[in-house]
Amino acid sequence: MSLVKKFQCPHCNAPMDVNPEDAIFNCVSCGQASLADGAIFDNHYILRNTLNQKKIHDIVKEFIRKKGFMRGIKGYKITNITPSLMPFWVVTTDAYTHFVGYLRYTETRTRTVGSGKNRRTVTEHVTVYRPIDREIREKRADVLLGRRGSSIFGYERVKDIVRAEFTNAVQFNHDQLQADEKEFNYLSSEINIDAANQLGKTHVFDNHRAQAEKACTKVFDCATQLTFEGTYFVHAPVWQIEYEFKGETYRMAILGSSGRVIIGELPVTTTFRIIFLSLTVLLLGGAGVASYFLRHLVYVPIIAGIVAAVIGFFTLKNTFKPKSVVD
Ligand SMILES: [Zn+2]
Repeated sequence: MSLVKKFQCPHCNAPMDVNPEDAIFNCVSCGQASLADGAIFDNHYILRNTLNQKKIHDIVKEFIRKKGFMRGIKGYKITNITPSLMPFWVVTTDAYTHFVGYLRYTETRTRTVGSGKNRRTVTEHVTVYRPIDREIREKRADVLLGRRGSSIFGYERVKDIVRAEFTNAVQFNHDQLQADEKEFNYLSSEINIDAANQLGKTHVFDNHRAQAEKACTKVFDCATQLTFEGTYFVHAPVWQIEYEFKGETYRMAILGSSGRVIIGELPVTTTFRIIFLSLTVLLLGGAGVASYFLRHLVYVPIIAGIVAAVIGFFTLKNTFKPKSVVD
């Protein structure tokens, strides 16, 4: 079901096929971002890619060596490398909230009553209602996914990375990107700038409301004012990798700006199962021996039982699934 719309790049005039669902997209010839109505969009940033095909091979090798050291993964083969630019919106705002409410809590007070030999100290628990009148003022950068219900491997995690690294983003430069890798797959955004701003605003309101509710037992009033300071279309370079081992395919996602493995799948091999099961048997044996010799201490067999159950569960969970996911 590929319905395409013909479109001409407003910057270099190259013809493009675009998906009618897309709200912002890039020219594959010059990289220019434009909106569905043909207007140029220049607030386009990127976490700068530093990787190439060779570095990807090194990172995959290192990942398998380090994270898969007990698994005996020999003779894997990289079958697919897809460098993609994942689309995000970053909505920056200056947000101000004023909230009023009260906080209810119990205070323990002591006071002296009576006189002479009847003089004594009494302790009482008093319920206190403290009025709360507070302000929240902050500069925010709320990150939103550019695609709806995306099934791209690792996409949700990249969102957190974009939030943390947004200040390192640079103005998008097509030539610079092409210098490292020609085949970058530009993923367009299905969410337009107005929808992004609306979602960003909702984020801020919800977040401030949540802060008010945390500070008060009851919030009487909570009003937020918002100034938009700029909305950016930010691409995060993510290399999607598939490798094959003993006929099965495993996936990895590597961040192009830092080379960090965002998420990766590793095979659960027979070697891994044997090592893992042996360790479990040893541990369970140890727990058994401990509870035998320390059986005069009532809690030892109980703790040993709990430990055995946890280890048993963990072993079953880890050795009988086909692959494990590591980040
Ligand atoms: Zn163009």
